[in-house]
Amino acid sequence: MEKALINTKFEYLKIQALNTWITTDNEPLIIAGPCGAETREQVLETAKTLSQIPVIQLFRAGIWKPRTRPNSFEGVGEQGLWWLKEVKEKYNFKTTVEVANAHHAELAMKHGVDVLWIGARTTVNPFSVQEIADAIKGVDIPVMIKNPIHADLQLWIGAIERINNAGITKLAAVHRGFHFFGKSKYRNKPMWELMIELKTLLPELPVICDPSHISGKRELIHNVAQKALNLGVNGLMIESHIDPSKALSDAEQQLQPNDLKELLAILQFPKTISTNAEFANKLNSFRAMIDEIDDELINLLKKRISVIEDIGIYKKEHNITVFQLERWQEILRTRSQLAEKLGLSRHHIEKLCQLLHEESIRVQNEVMNKKTV
Ligand code: PEP
Ligand code: MN
Repeated sequence: MEKALINTKFEYLKIQALNTWITTDNEPLIIAGPCGAETREQVLETAKTLSQIPVIQLFRAGIWKPRTRPNSFEGVGEQGLWWLKEVKEKYNFKTTVEVANAHHAELAMKHGVDVLWIGARTTVNPFSVQEIADAIKGVDIPVMIKNPIHADLQLWIGAIERINNAGITKLAAVHRGFHFFGKSKYRNKPMWELMIELKTLLPELPVICDPSHISGKRELIHNVAQKALNLGVNGLMIESHIDPSKALSDAEQQLQPNDLKELLAILQFPKTISTNAEFANKLNSFRAMIDEIDDELINLLKKRISVIEDIGIYKKEHNITVFQLERWQEILRTRSQLAEKLGLSRHHIEKLCQLLHEESIRVQNEVMNKKTV
């Protein structure tokens, strides 16, 4: 039996809506603050300027920084929690910090941090996630869980399950991109399809995008944030430092609060649903067209598979291999040429050809392996 893409295995998770733990006025939640708390002045100055941007509801700062190499700035530790307390009192922000073990979680809660977040380097480790889950069991504190560094959806869901099993129902996932090997313009590849799969599997779970860690540099943040909003994310977490050029971590990707203000002003915040009846009617008629086209496509695929089966039988009769390199190269070349001629994305059509070819190979192998009676 082939695995279905959408299953309902995770329905037992109990997840509350975002607006049960933070006021969002049904707008995406905006989280901002420095990568790391460095000094009392830097934290308070950043918070002061950010407090002039009303859409920001949650102030972030790393107190314990997981750094790739030793001898880098590893955070100020517990003293930073006192600064966050001042931020709460002076600027009326809710606060969030990254916790990587039980001790961090206990200290953060002791100092009145409102929301905890689990970083990408911790989500990869089930021991650490379980340790945090045990430490916060029975406490009504919201937790945001970043995706693991590498593209492993099960590991991400596993961390969400561990925290949820501890009785935490105020949860959010944070999409911060995935490590990859090779060249890319991103610091961490967005791989939006993974975020979409998470949302499909866990529809109740709020998903927040962190365009700062996806981008790695300021110039890309606008584009990444807009893409995330277009996909209907429930919030954005953006790093902001009063003087990014002096930041002790992630200097290239932090925005000066005024630049963040400008960015938030130019971003479009599309809604997931519309109450406009005319819009709904028109959209429905477009969708009816798409339904018809998909119907035709699937019927065509059925036709294609029938021919593939005939080819399989024929090859078997003549003792010829299923895979034919030259034919495959020809298919790729001609289909992508046609795609280009029609103004379609070459990449898209190549991917589609790969899928079709994979299925053809599978079907022909099945035919080949069938015992003749
Ligand atoms: C951060 O938010 O500063 C951070 C360390 O992020 P990540 O866990 O996504 O690397
Ligand atoms: Mn950072």
